Amino acid sequence: MNKVLLIGAGGVGSVVAHKCAMVPEVFGEITLASRTKAKCDAIAAEVKSRTGREIATAQVDADDSAQTAALIRKTGARLVINVALPYQDLAIMDACLEAGCDYMDTANYEPKDVAKFEYSWQWAYQDRFAKAGLAALLGSGFDPGVTNVFTAWAMKHHFDEIHTLDIIDVNGGNHGKAFATNFNPEINIREVTAPCRHYENGGFVETGAMSLHQPFTCPDGVGTYEIYRMYHEELESLVKHFPSIRRAQFWMSFSPNYLKHLEVLQNVGMTRIDPVRFQGVDIIPLQFLKAVLPDPGDLGKTTKGKTCIGNVFTGTKDGQPKAGYIYNVCDHEACFAEVGSQAISYTTGVPAMIGAKQMLSGDWRKAGVWNMEQLDPDGFMADLNVHGLPWKWSDLTPEQAAGFQVAQAP
Ligand code: NDP
Repeated sequence: MNKVLLIGAGGVGSVVAHKCAMVPEVFGEITLASRTKAKCDAIAAEVKSRTGREIATAQVDADDSAQTAALIRKTGARLVINVALPYQDLAIMDACLEAGCDYMDTANYEPKDVAKFEYSWQWAYQDRFAKAGLAALLGSGFDPGVTNVFTAWAMKHHFDEIHTLDIIDVNGGNHGKAFATNFNPEINIREVTAPCRHYENGGFVETGAMSLHQPFTCPDGVGTYEIYRMYHEELESLVKHFPSIRRAQFWMSFSPNYLKHLEVLQNVGMTRIDPVRFQGVDIIPLQFLKAVLPDPGDLGKTTKGKTCIGNVFTGTKDGQPKAGYIYNVCDHEACFAEVGSQAISYTTGVPAMIGAKQMLSGDWRKAGVWNMEQLDPDGFMADLNVHGLPWKWSDLTPEQAAGFQVAQAP
């Protein structure tokens, strides 16, 4: 019977706990651990009421790898699913090496004091995991995660070469709050205020944050939204693993209301990550801001609308130009009805469960450190359809792809 240790009891952790509990033949014994045990207990009670399954809970400070290693040994876990924050990634990888356990996460490592994320820190664990015969799977959320697998699947089944890749992440949901972020506010705001980087002709090109935008009409009646080009971590691994890509860009939708609030918060210094002395103590303004903003885990009750996340590709097949779009549409209210969470947590938590299932089944269990696109996409793609994130592929003309006219796709 497989034993897993899930670390992090936030919005995403709650979905992963529910979805793992719904697949008892793979996830035999689940322990949910986090910094605040009361949050784990509350999630365990919800899981019990929705699925009838008991999950164990524990307190852990995952910044302390010795503590995490002791918990891994105590639970007998074969796999740690890390859905705490990106700051904990390396300490949890160290704990897995120490306790002899596989590792998985949904976001790449980021140091607390620099708003910078890249894979180099985690790729540097390749030899240690390989030598120990252990597997680490990086970025098994939606983006990164499903967007990487979409690219591997398109490369396997539709293209000989992919030349351009545009990942388009639209959240057409409305939570009814003046301002809130869809996942951890600190991580989200660090990400969207960073300079934009996209890949073109062999290197990354930096431009101003949110400086390029355009409207995008989603398929299936989701609506038209303004999408902004920004940097996202999967671009780094995808251009490395698919060298035929000449241009790779990531786009995300933001409402005028979100951008207005963000601009004010930035202008008044509330998004700073350096310490500020306040009443005799050092505080980080962005961490304080997180404390006063709505908890993304609570937004499910009020959020209505849909997300639409997918990839537009151009390239060649059998010497001919080819283009296509692959996407998933997810309904916030349906997610809430199923697991008590909004669609951003859901679209991250479901792929985390599927990635874990792929590893535990052995299909994706290979010693070393892997990005999603390095593994065979077919089993994961089939599971998306089974476990709540069905996807569709449409052929596009190269002209449609160039103008992102996906809603008019045949
Ligand atoms: P939350 O802030 O809601 O939850 C994070 C959880 O981690 C909290 O329970 C927190 O505990 C816990 N935690 C923080 N520090 C520690 C620590 N040192 N030891 C133990 N537990 C700790 O975040 P989300 O659920 O919104 O996001 C979780 C992860 O998912 C993030 O890494 C995020 O970047 C990633 N993500 C990935 C996406 C993708 O598509 N790939 C999309 C969205 C998110 P406490 O409650 O005590 O603060």
